[in-house]
Amino acid sequence: MASDDDRVLILGGGLAGASAAHVLARAGRRVTLLEKEAEIGGLANSLLHESEHGRFWYDFGPHRFHSVDQRVHEETIAVLGDNKVERARVSRILLYDQFFDYPLKLSKALVQLPKPVMLRAIFDYFVQATKNLFTSPKDRNFEEWVVRRFGRKLYEIFFGVYTAKTWGLPCTKISADWASQRISQASLWDTIVKSVFRPRKEARSLVSKFHYPAKGGVGEIAKSFARSAQGNGAEVRTGVEVEAVLVENGRCLGVRARNERGETEVIKAGTVLNTMPLTLLVRLLEPGAPAEILAHVDALKHRSMVFVFLVLDRPTLTHDHWIYIPEDTLTVHRLSEPKNFSDDCAPADKTLICAEITCDFGDEIWTKTDSELREVAVRDLVKIGLIKPEEVLETFSHRELFAYPLYDLEYREHLEAVLAHADGIAHLDTTGRQGLFKYNNMDHSIAMGFTAADNLLGEDADHRQVATGDTYFG
Ligand SMILES: Cc1cc2nc3c(=O)[nH]c(=O)nc-3n(C[C@H](O)[C@H](O)[C@H](O)COP(=O)(O)OP(=O)(O)OC[C@H]3O[C@@H](n4cnc5c(N)ncnc54)[C@H](O)[C@@H]3O)c2cc1C
Repeated sequence: MASDDDRVLILGGGLAGASAAHVLARAGRRVTLLEKEAEIGGLANSLLHESEHGRFWYDFGPHRFHSVDQRVHEETIAVLGDNKVERARVSRILLYDQFFDYPLKLSKALVQLPKPVMLRAIFDYFVQATKNLFTSPKDRNFEEWVVRRFGRKLYEIFFGVYTAKTWGLPCTKISADWASQRISQASLWDTIVKSVFRPRKEARSLVSKFHYPAKGGVGEIAKSFARSAQGNGAEVRTGVEVEAVLVENGRCLGVRARNERGETEVIKAGTVLNTMPLTLLVRLLEPGAPAEILAHVDALKHRSMVFVFLVLDRPTLTHDHWIYIPEDTLTVHRLSEPKNFSDDCAPADKTLICAEITCDFGDEIWTKTDSELREVAVRDLVKIGLIKPEEVLETFSHRELFAYPLYDLEYREHLEAVLAHADGIAHLDTTGRQGLFKYNNMDHSIAMGFTAADNLLGEDADHRQVATGDTYFG
């Protein structure tokens, strides 16, 4: 008879948890996965909105899947089966009241960007490149990191404004780690610099195509991994919220959870693999973590996000997957249109738009009602000339508390202390974007789930070393 010691208990059913379950169950391990929401998917879930205007699938912000990791790519494509489409990626950015292809193309940038701005950007780049030949100071924050690589003007017109708007912090208060993890050479400036100067060492290029589920939104990726795990005998339980992580004599024994029926249930396991937010994991430890560790936990912050969805009375608004809006007089910072990811996301004669607004839990954006959010989003979209107010048939919203881990100047010290504490508990591991407080993409979370599972299967795999970051503001 199977004992609790045989069980691997996975906490959280986002991509990291679902992909780990997929690998472990396929290898014949006894797996139980607990997810608090009604559905698998986490940050990369999709929900269906149905109304008199039709059926609309929406993600929590736009999600394009691609991976340079062959295993992640192949397994994800395989698990989706026929349920996928391939799309050419299309993004734009609003600069100086005009839409530019993103990343910028040299020919268009030269023609469309105000000449003084373009000349200044090129001049600043050269001044900075010359300075860099003689000095190489340590980058103390995001601003210094970007200015040293791209020059001051480009920092000012895009990186600086957009970043400060997204994080609600001046860029001198954001860690250089965030830039180094998230901005590759394959970004805004790269296209220009590469096409003119052709550096010897080619940077990793921006992918031009990506995959997306044909039906059911991006959430189908995590759901497909979970279904595969179930097919191999895993128990996947949704609507089960972990309320305590039980530790005895330095060893994790399992969890206490509020189960599907609203009852308290203790679930024991030989190994616990966490993918819930690391800060939550440590807060839920029973007995509790020491006060100094909880102080480090309190110091690790997340940026939250409100998504405002607008059903429009027109077949399509743009051809873009998303449009960046750095302009700081506008509240919305990015727009996306699910229909451009898959036709299945909206009926033929209507479209849905997602307006993202970053915020902090409990602030004036987070606490706005649906109708107040509608007002903000409609005002911004009208101001940039994209819609007319009368086209908006209905609006609704979604909130994500743990949208982005916030890399402020002190985060690393706090993170190391919190991770060291979690690592000191035997039979407990933590992975994924949330479980490692790492700003990463879907493919990275899948890679982390795979390698954490490999590790439990006795293979020499280090999920903490999954390389992250090849796109800007993914
Ligand atoms: C706006 C936005 C846009 C993005 N766009 C892209 C993109 O274009 N391309 C890309 O590759 N990536 C994108 N990402 C990143 C991607 O969404 C994440 O990297 C990935 O989904 C993280 O998966 P995860 O499993 O690590 O974490 P999560 O998905 O957060 O999973 C953690 C899970 O734990 C569950 N949980 C929490 N508390 C409990 C509890 N007490 N009990 C039980 N379960 C619990 C949560 O409900 C969640 O399901 C985007 C992210 C955001 C926020």
